[in-house]
Amino acid sequence: MRDGFEWLEIALDYRCNLRCLGCRACDGGDERLAAADALAILRGARARGVAKLWIGGGEPTLRPELPKLIAAARSLGFERVLLQTNGLRLAYASYAAAIVDAGLTDVSFNVKSLRAEVNDALTRTEGSQALLLEGIANVAAVARGQGVRLAADVLLCRDTAPDLAETVRAFAARGITRFTLWLLSAADSDDPEVARAVPRLDQLTGPIADAGRVADALGVELVSLHTPPCTLAPSDRPRYLPARSLRLLVVDPSGRSFPLESSPFEGGVYPEPCRACPVRESCGGARADYLRLHGDDALNPPGT
Ligand code: SF4
Repeated sequence: MRDGFEWLEIALDYRCNLRCLGCRACDGGDERLAAADALAILRGARARGVAKLWIGGGEPTLRPELPKLIAAARSLGFERVLLQTNGLRLAYASYAAAIVDAGLTDVSFNVKSLRAEVNDALTRTEGSQALLLEGIANVAAVARGQGVRLAADVLLCRDTAPDLAETVRAFAARGITRFTLWLLSAADSDDPEVARAVPRLDQLTGPIADAGRVADALGVELVSLHTPPCTLAPSDRPRYLPARSLRLLVVDPSGRSFPLESSPFEGGVYPEPCRACPVRESCGGARADYLRLHGDDALNPPGT
């Protein structure tokens, strides 16, 4: 494992109990990281000083050994252990309690919209919003007093952008204290439904500004991973979170490791407008799949 990382993200496998629009994870084959191999990776990361573990996927709660893995990570000295989840299994109160008791410090729920019909259409699973809300309530109930942080990874797409501010308000009321915006990606997808759902970046400027104002008023954090600074209102540019700033190493189910920012899902392309951009050094660039769909005319470098 390479040095210099703050976070280790581990994907045990790519199975999932949802089939969300644009998510290719569940098509990712049958590869599975065995529990013993996962533990060896955790030990290697700790030996190199990595103290933050992000358990992603696929849907990690489908793995029965998850509570043991969380407990083992804490025993190895991981200060933070974050579970990224669709929340469905956490709708079982006893499971939510077991996961938190194992030593989890952060739960980040996949959120799409406050509107159940929008969520369930995007997850292609009727009733998934209701289970997500039960999962959040169960974790919030057991997390109180244990210092567990509740966060949300919010999908930005054509159907979720108009309600973004109200989605932040609704989920903040349920205990979420940090919102990270993720732009729907059409990378590797030739599904026209996905292509139609990816918004132009300049269509997100207003919704992100509105959501930011709501977040600030409520005292919760709001950051955005895939909207370069040139597509945000000047006052929202500090919300931009380039992938490389996380200093996160991903290990996939085959055991292959790579820095998060090297993934095509995170940007990495600097088209013509970026050539003289004054903030290029700190910008992760645009995604190739976005540029293929919408071109580069939403990129307006600051100061030009
Ligand atoms: S480097 Fe390119 S994508 Fe990034 S802010 Fe500048 S113009 Fe926008």
